[in-house]
Amino acid sequence: MRAVSLDFEHRLVVENEVPPPPAPASGQALLRIVETGLCATDRELARFRFGEPPPGESTLILGHEALAQVVEVNGGGLQPGEWVVPMIRRPCPSFCPSCAARRRDLCRTGLYLERGINRSHGYFTEFAVDPIEDLVAIPADLLDVAILIEPLSVVEKAIDTAFRAQPLPPRTAIVAGAGPVGILTALALLVRGIGTTVISLEPEDHPRVQLLRKAGVNYLRGQNPQPADLVFEASGGDLELLPWVASQGVLVLIGAAEHDLVVQPLRMLIDNLTIAGIVNAGPAHFEMAVRDLSAIPRPLLQAMIERRSFSDLRRSLRESSSTPKLVHRI
Ligand SMILES: [Zn+2]
Ligand SMILES: [Zn+2]
Repeated sequence: MRAVSLDFEHRLVVENEVPPPPAPASGQALLRIVETGLCATDRELARFRFGEPPPGESTLILGHEALAQVVEVNGGGLQPGEWVVPMIRRPCPSFCPSCAARRRDLCRTGLYLERGINRSHGYFTEFAVDPIEDLVAIPADLLDVAILIEPLSVVEKAIDTAFRAQPLPPRTAIVAGAGPVGILTALALLVRGIGTTVISLEPEDHPRVQLLRKAGVNYLRGQNPQPADLVFEASGGDLELLPWVASQGVLVLIGAAEHDLVVQPLRMLIDNLTIAGIVNAGPAHFEMAVRDLSAIPRPLLQAMIERRSFSDLRRSLRESSSTPKLVHRI
């Protein structure tokens, strides 16, 4: 079957033939991959900034955000024909307490596998086999936007973390960044009735800004905002974020910024501030994502997605797009 893979030996992205997966063992399902989403992680992988092929192999099939249809099931819990989104991480070899409790997002050894990223093949190919417990069933009426569930699951973990750290229900939020994660964060906050401002660098007539305005989100182009109860960093940029956090507030880091964060210990203490970092998501966050996806106005979600063909992937990895989420049909 055809695939798009990273060739670690020659440091190239290649379209290659790979063997089909084995028949599903007990507790596994065979999936037909329908589409995969592209994100900043894939672009970094294509630059060989991180990522690792499976042990003993020199190539890694790309694609960690996938929508698939169940072809065959060996065990209970799913039926052939059902639609699923796979969770990305698989447990570490020592099955640490977090991995054993299905919270691979909180793995304590760091030796977890990640499909399409670390030591496990991804979904940019025709078929895959996965444990049934790592698949999230999707209602058929969400299919046109279901590819957003994986990035939204990370957003849900960020919002869940922020809400747990805040003693009172938050009223206002700031999201730094208007990429897919920033926009999804703003939309998920609006569903919760939180007044949300997005700060980014796109000009007013940019499609992403128009989408945010249509949703009812405030937009500031590179200006300093009024402080808010919650601040989400989804830009990966070099921003002074703590002054934006109101007293008793929470700063959640989702974007992988590489600069240092300036912290004023006295202000953090007096204002009871919390800083949290999050990555990946647990099963409950995927369920929250499915719920929120139904609640967010569908045209806004549809406007986030641009679909391309299988052979467009290598071009998509090189060029950016004004549409937040590029999706490739398999
Ligand atoms: Zn991703
Ligand atoms: Zn683990």
